[in-house]
Amino acid sequence: MVALPIARSVAELRAGVAAWRQAGASIALVPTMGALHEGHLALVRRGLELADRVVASVFVNPTQFAPQEDFDRYPRDEAGDAGKLASVGCGLLYAPTVGEMYPEGFCTAITLGGPAEGLCGAFRPQMFGGVALVVTKLLLQAQPDFAIFGEKDYQQLQVIRRLTRDLDIPVRVVGVPTVREADGLAMSSRNKYLTAEERADASELYRTLSETAAALAEGAPAGAILERAMAKLAAARFSKIDYLELRDAETLLPLQRVSRPARLLVAAWLGAVRLIDNLPVEPVLG
Ligand code: AMP
Repeated sequence: MVALPIARSVAELRAGVAAWRQAGASIALVPTMGALHEGHLALVRRGLELADRVVASVFVNPTQFAPQEDFDRYPRDEAGDAGKLASVGCGLLYAPTVGEMYPEGFCTAITLGGPAEGLCGAFRPQMFGGVALVVTKLLLQAQPDFAIFGEKDYQQLQVIRRLTRDLDIPVRVVGVPTVREADGLAMSSRNKYLTAEERADASELYRTLSETAAALAEGAPAGAILERAMAKLAAARFSKIDYLELRDAETLLPLQRVSRPARLLVAAWLGAVRLIDNLPVEPVLG
């Protein structure tokens, strides 16, 4: 297999993209933080259904980590990532340095509201500002026709949809359903942090989420259903539940019951590992 070309600078990225454009190709961008798994590769595959070429970025973005979070020990495996990307037909890997993305004197920030409020925005206040910054930069650097994101990070997806609309960034934001392990656990680069025991316990998150989504779809008041689900997670050794909430599927405003397309979102801890997941909840007709 031919080695995947790697762009390290904005200039190299732009040269690669310009060559594709000159040949008349449409382009999809898949932003990631690396340590790639099947979930990320599903985004690349979706990109290739929509566009002629896919560029994937691998950048562990310091501005979205709080000081006590795992920036330094976040898993990194560029050679492995490049091999996986090439195997699914990705045409270019963009792996800039921190200095390239945030050169000396960098001082610009993006302020968010709406879908960034509450949920992970309440527990990781730094995160979405950093995500918005890096995604805006990547979109302006690569200027793709499509940008592909996972529903695994559903709040992030809605933040980016809103951001690109609000800032008139000419790109189609596309969401891809969550890719799961056989027992339902959403694939995540951070699943590597789970001990064998925690990994076994982790499957309860998806099970509880699925049951709860089915119960909520009937339209009953969410309060009691969510209380029961949280008690179940606590009994299944989740040490802390940051949130389990029902929200409007688009705006992410809180919902008391399912009367229109909704999303059930959860963040819960197993030991030192924080897992997030979410499912759609459509009202049952009739
Ligand atoms: P990350 O590298 O974890 O920041 O994720 C990069 C992109 O991959 C984001 O758009 C994620 O939502 C997406 N992603 C991560 N895990 C999954 C998964 N299990 N299924 C689908 N997309 C995913």
